[in-house]
Order: sequence, then C-alpha cells, then structure tokens
Amino acid sequence: MRLKDKRALVTGGSRGIGKAIVFELAANGCNVVFTYRSSAEAAKKIEEEADKFGVKIFGFQADAANFLEAEKTVNFTLEKLGGLDILVNNAGITKDNLLLRMSEDDFDKVIAANLKSVFNYTKASVKPMVGQRYGKIVNVSSVVALIGNPGQANYVASKAGVIGFTKSVAKELASRNINVNAVAPGYISTDMTEKLNDKQKEAIINLIPVKRIGTPEDVAKVVTFLASSDSDYLTGQVIPVDGGMAM
Ligand code: NAP
Repeated sequence: MRLKDKRALVTGGSRGIGKAIVFELAANGCNVVFTYRSSAEAAKKIEEEADKFGVKIFGFQADAANFLEAEKTVNFTLEKLGGLDILVNNAGITKDNLLLRMSEDDFDKVIAANLKSVFNYTKASVKPMVGQRYGKIVNVSSVVALIGNPGQANYVASKAGVIGFTKSVAKELASRNINVNAVAPGYISTDMTEKLNDKQKEAIINLIPVKRIGTPEDVAKVVTFLASSDSDYLTGQVIPVDGGMAM
C-alpha cells in the first residue's frame, strides 16, 4: 500500500499499459481518474474493479491532444478525488510509415497525441501540485526515442520530445517538491504491437537479452515506483523497461 489515499490521473487508461498502470496504482491504495478517447465500454469495466481494490476509480472521456479537455479532466479529478498527487502521461498512438510515404497529417496527429498531450496534462496539473508542494509526474516515452526506428520518424520524434520535456520540467519543478521522470518501454504486448506477425515477433525477441516480450505489468510496476516516495531522490530520469534491449 505504497500509495494509500494518494490521488492519480492516468491518460489513456482504458487499454494496454495504461490499464495496467491504473490497476497497479489501485492495488497500492491509490484513487485514480483515467482518460480514454473512445473505449467507453472498456472504461466502464475498469471502474467496476474499484471495490476490489477498496479505492475510487473514475473513467473520463477526453482527447489528450486538446488542451481545454485536459483542463476539464484535471478539474474533474480535483472534484472527484479532492486533489491530485500523481500524473501519468501514458496516452499515445502510432501511425507508422517510411518518411517518403508519411503524410503531413500522420506526422501532426502523432505529435499532437503523444507530445502535445504531455504539455497539456502537465500544464493543467502543475498548479494544484505547486500549491500543495507535492507531485509525481511520470511520462511514458519509448525505447525507440533513445535508438531511433525506421518507419516511425513521427512516433520517435514525439517520444524523444517527451524526454526533453521531462528533463526541462524536472529542473523547473524540483524546488517545488515535484519529481518528473519518464519510462522508456521496449516491446510490450498490447493492441499497439499486436499487428506484428510471428516471424517479426521472433526477430524482436532475438534483440531482447531477457528473451521475452514485456507485459503491461512490467511497465506499470516501474511507473508505480516512480509515483511513490521510494523514488523521491530521482528526477529528470528516463528508465528503460525493455529487457535490456537498448543498453
Ligand atoms: P494501446 O494499447 O494502443 O492503448 C492506448 C491508450 O491510449 C488507450 O487507452 C487509448 O484510448 C488512449 N489514447 C490514444 N490516443 C488518445 C487520445 N488522443 N486521447 C486520449 N486517450 C488516447 O497502447 P499501449 O501499447 O498501451 O501504449 C501506451 C503508451 O506506451 C503509449 O504512449 C505508447 O506510445 C507507449 N509505448 C508502448 C509500447 C508498446 O510496445 N506497446 C512501447 C513503448 C512505448 P482508447 O482505448 O479510447 O482508444
């Protein structure tokens, strides 16, 4: 119960890594608001798990790329949970293509959903955190931000932007007792990655020293560590959760 009675906001919590983060935070006693874009039914099922953990869980439909919707989400969180201690910027999308075939729209959409969203939610959350002189912000980047990946120039640019944003804001907010860190997941089994065929998956496993694809829970546990006081002396860090893939 490392997070008993803490209050968290998780973007993109209806599926995959975000859903595992919601449950891991809840299992540690944290009350959670999570956002989703269109998965209303999945969101409802997650809310129904709250009693099992003895915490409050609320879903909220909001486009992470839209600043006004981010502000609305933060106001909803303050109203439902009575405050905000932890922000996890997890929502993200891919629109992969080689640069020569990548449209301007696919570039803009990925930057908006993956990078501008982090600005939106961090800016909207920082006021209450500064006021209470406490906050933990965890951004979900990607290991490809550290090493590049063909076919993902838009995605990699967005995730590398998240790392630069994390370090700058960490320096700005350290004196207010707000820690800002990032995780850089490797290949994690979710809807986002299930498009690959078995041969492609095998090729990826061969690049991972621990010889397995990661689970959403592998990431959620590290996010929970960064959201807890166990990581009070870490800020501006990027922690790869990749089975050793990018070392
Ligand atoms: P996923 O299974 O596709 O789930 C994405 C989540 O984000 C869903 O809850 C989705 O909501 C939400 N979302 C997407 N765009 C949104 C928007 N504009 N506004 C609000 N919510 C939005 O993805 P995932 O694999 O769990 O990835 C989660 C994060 O980890 C992403 O930032 C991703 O880039 C990062 N990551 C993933 C991997 C991997 O291997 N899977 C590796 C490195 C980093 P709906 O359900 O309503 O669509």
